[in-house]
Amino acid sequence: MANLGIPSNTIEILQKYNFNFQKKFGQNFLIDTHVLEKIISAAEITKDDCVVEIGPGIGTMTQYLAEAAGHVVAVEIDKNLIPILADTLSSYDNVEVINEDILKVDINRLVQEKNGGRPIKVVANLPYYITTPIIMGLFESHVPMDSITIMVQKEVADRMQEGPGTKDYGALSLAVQYYAKPEIVANVPPNCFIPRPNVGSAVIRLTRYQEPPVKAENEKLMFALIRASFNQRRKTLVNGLGNASNVNVSKDAVREALEQMGLPETIRGEALTLEQFAQLSNLLGRK
Ligand code: SAM
Repeated sequence: MANLGIPSNTIEILQKYNFNFQKKFGQNFLIDTHVLEKIISAAEITKDDCVVEIGPGIGTMTQYLAEAAGHVVAVEIDKNLIPILADTLSSYDNVEVINEDILKVDINRLVQEKNGGRPIKVVANLPYYITTPIIMGLFESHVPMDSITIMVQKEVADRMQEGPGTKDYGALSLAVQYYAKPEIVANVPPNCFIPRPNVGSAVIRLTRYQEPPVKAENEKLMFALIRASFNQRRKTLVNGLGNASNVNVSKDAVREALEQMGLPETIRGEALTLEQFAQLSNLLGRK
């Protein structure tokens, strides 16, 4: 089958099937062979790997993945793409397409069925409207995986990498950095896609930690504190957490914990590192 990374081949397929792009599914198909090669090499895929691709579209990246991996499972929501994928991927016997909404798939079960529970690699040019729920879903449900290599909106890639003291630092940064080491692999301009998105994009690789880099005795409490702190970003931690409905801590308890940590009681959540959030949750959890 013709390489769909070459724009004229993609256009031919779109015309052959009279395909209508669905905005609601975040459909922007890649048409740049260099970017595709970069994604595949950043994901470090070998024939021993089982790769889960989210949103194969017309199968552009799937072709590259099928060449490099042992097995590819591609989950696509749009039923109109299924016959096209059957055509564009017909020469590969190591690809399976599943017509489902990724947010409704039990990925742990999928990994069990398709790879005997061994860690998978996730690779995707993500639909941007659900980037965060997809990533958080993969991490929070503890899907066995080595890495996630994804195309996301540039601004979201930046947020994943940031630390305290920047405007992009927030709950997503902390969550990603608790589970994985983020590295931006490439910046990708709108003209690498058809149709062109309104925003810049970036490829980011998230390498899953075997053990989290900080010790949180109660992960749930730590993430509740993080969410509450950034929901009320402009408030001090004492006021923000003391009033938050999703955490049950008093202002005095927060004040006391901050004092034990050697931090001023006027500090805001946006100034705390991941390690300090872990420490704070450990102190509050023991009270
Ligand atoms: N991988 C293709 C490429 O790089 O050219 C297409 C990428 S496009 C940005 C996102 C794809 O995700 C589309 O094919 C879209 O239909 C699919 N998609 C959107 N929402 C989805 C969902 N909830 N579950 C699975 N696939 C979804």
